[in-house]
Amino acid sequence: MAHIEVDGIHVYYGNIRALQGISFKVDKGAIVTLIGANGAGKTTTLNALSGILALREGSIQIGDLNIAEYMPHQLIPKGVVHVPEGRRIFARLSVDENLAMGAFSRSDDKSELAKDREYVLEMFPRLRERLTQTAGTLSGGEQQMLAIGRALMSKPDVLLLDEPSMGLAPVLVEQVFESIIDINKAGVTCMLVEQNAYMALQIASYGYVLEGGRIALEGEAGVLAKNEEIKKAYLG
Ligand code: ATP
Repeated sequence: MAHIEVDGIHVYYGNIRALQGISFKVDKGAIVTLIGANGAGKTTTLNALSGILALREGSIQIGDLNIAEYMPHQLIPKGVVHVPEGRRIFARLSVDENLAMGAFSRSDDKSELAKDREYVLEMFPRLRERLTQTAGTLSGGEQQMLAIGRALMSKPDVLLLDEPSMGLAPVLVEQVFESIIDINKAGVTCMLVEQNAYMALQIASYGYVLEGGRIALEGEAGVLAKNEEIKKAYLG
């Protein structure tokens, strides 16, 4: 069953057409990746999914939500949570305060929030060691963990991840990708945007290749990983 259904979307920045009629689906409980070169439209697609960018044409349905009817902040309590490119953590707040901000829109009682905080800290022990540290002083990898941890505090049904591997050393990329697998196993549908096609295709079940604002290719992740064109263009 499709959890995310994107149908013929066009997105513009002024007169510049960034997405030219994109359609794709993500099944409930799947990890699906969107790969592509710089400027292909990956971030634009995620920003459309989380309601940050308006559609000129087409529609996005996530669960029973028609995304065009909501402001981005209204989608978070409905389970659509975006981990943006460049992390965008609250640099002046502590690690723990950042996690608390993730739960800002929740009305659950304290014990429920404490349980979820514990889940995040189990997943990322480095954050537990740094709870009082100012988030802006964390390393790039730790900031990425915090951005994902903060998103988890919003209790997502759908997690939109924009280039979580960007700027990270290989060992940290592996840790972050393992956390995505764990989050997905807990039932969260994941849309993963990546330039690191190799890693993304290892954890996703299905992939879409974006070129110049269009879907150029799609298929089972295992099949895409063996595709000669993709190997040449994205896998080195
Ligand atoms: P990258 O991997 O470099 O982040 P991307 O695939 O995420 O690339 P987008 O950031 O979605 O690509 O950009 C798609 C196109 O839209 C590009 O041609 C880009 O120049 C253009 N674009 C993106 N943001 C804006 C903006 N704010 N104003 C004008 N054009 C933009």
